[in-house]
Amino acid sequence: MIENPSNWAGNYTYRATQYYQPETIEQIQELVAHSSKLKAQGTRHSFNDIADSPGDLISLKHFDQIVALDHERRTVTVEAGLRYGQLARWLHGEGYALHNLASLPHISVAGACATATHGSGDRHGNLATAVSAMEMVTADGDVVVLSRQQDGEQFEGTVVGLGGLGVVTKLTLDILPTFEMRQDVYENLPLAELEDHCNELFSSAYSVSLFTDWRNTTFNQVWLKRHVPDGTSLELEPQLFGATLATSNLHPIASLSAENCTEQMGIYGPWHERLPHFRMDFTPSSGEELQSEYLVPRQHAFAALLAIDQLREHVASLLQISEVRSIAADNLWMSPCYKQACVSIHFTWKKDWPRVRKVLPIIEDQLAVFDARPHWGKLFTMSPRRVQSLYEKLPDFQGLLQNYDPQGKFRNAFLDKYIFGM
Ligand SMILES: Cc1cc2nc3c(=O)[nH]c(=O)nc-3n(C[C@H](O)[C@H](O)[C@H](O)COP(=O)(O)OP(=O)(O)OC[C@H]3O[C@@H](n4cnc5c(N)ncnc54)[C@H](O)[C@@H]3O)c2cc1C
Repeated sequence: MIENPSNWAGNYTYRATQYYQPETIEQIQELVAHSSKLKAQGTRHSFNDIADSPGDLISLKHFDQIVALDHERRTVTVEAGLRYGQLARWLHGEGYALHNLASLPHISVAGACATATHGSGDRHGNLATAVSAMEMVTADGDVVVLSRQQDGEQFEGTVVGLGGLGVVTKLTLDILPTFEMRQDVYENLPLAELEDHCNELFSSAYSVSLFTDWRNTTFNQVWLKRHVPDGTSLELEPQLFGATLATSNLHPIASLSAENCTEQMGIYGPWHERLPHFRMDFTPSSGEELQSEYLVPRQHAFAALLAIDQLREHVASLLQISEVRSIAADNLWMSPCYKQACVSIHFTWKKDWPRVRKVLPIIEDQLAVFDARPHWGKLFTMSPRRVQSLYEKLPDFQGLLQNYDPQGKFRNAFLDKYIFGM
């Protein structure tokens, strides 16, 4: 047992009474079997209390090994606490890739999938969509294995499990042959251009991100990550929907050095050194930030962005940077992209919770008409009733939690409030 930590950003200190770092699955089984309340943790990058427990916390930090590579099925099986950055580097060495990555490679596979963490790309689902099987220690200490192939619809309910179904110990992920990418950045895209060109812009590369500080009606930067088939050369247009091709590497916050950012300026490199915005070997920032993110159906992208633009005076002074991404629809019950392709509007805030807490309801009101769903691992103030109304599979998910965990061992304040409360 070790001292209780806080999350990565330091804005939340876990309230659990005991904190464990087991090294074997038998130790996890024993801990689970003998605990009345517990929760598994990944790398603690969530900004709210989703990864807390009123009882015990189990860190999966020692579960960071690659278990198996199946060339025939094109899958890799990993231990749950492995970080994407480590996996990605190894996979590339073996000639494989993942379909997408989040903005930073430091998060654990299990933690990211549990909250439907996503990157960007019109045709790419969130990271959890790559999961084809999971091994889990359930409430009574048993080890169960679930798979896409064997467990059908129920599997689709378990992958984005919000930590409520058990301690995930292994995950099997779909992989692709490795590929090269290039990253190019354009500056100053007028918001008005999205009225007619939103779909065109987001489908113009493998992964597209727009950055803005909401200080005026332009997006400061457009990051295009392109998959480059062998030997293809690409002549870039100097202008893209009114934005201008950048002439040096940029940080999304233009005043910061781009040293920690992945290579830009069209230089080819492996997928895992282009898909994240930040390099694995650098810490992306000091944690002096808070984050919120809302996902809206893709057809409302422009209207939703206009709606946020109307709130500039509330948002800009509190903001470090905002990012807009695109995510494909999926079938995972608790994914914000369940059956609907989305655009996500993300806010990296200054670390000033009293002020952020006041602006979130204003944003949520403004986006309500678009049925915006908050990111499970970030900060939001929406009522539990409202959150629940946005998930048509919620009753099935409640049933799944009750089946797997009848005593509520893995329930915490977050699940009690947003999944079961009103
Ligand atoms: C700097 C920064 C950048 C980010 N960038 C992105 C981004 O690009 N895209 C995006 O969508 N999100 C992003 N996020 C949010 C982040 O991806 C999610 O909060 C994610 O859940 C963090 O993973 P973690 O390993 O830290 O999980 P934790 O925060 O430790 O846990 C999250 C949830 O997963 C559960 N969990 C963890 N491990 C297990 C396990 N082994 N078994 C069962 N349940 C488990 C926990 O119980 C909890 O419910 C970012 C966060 C930060 C701090």
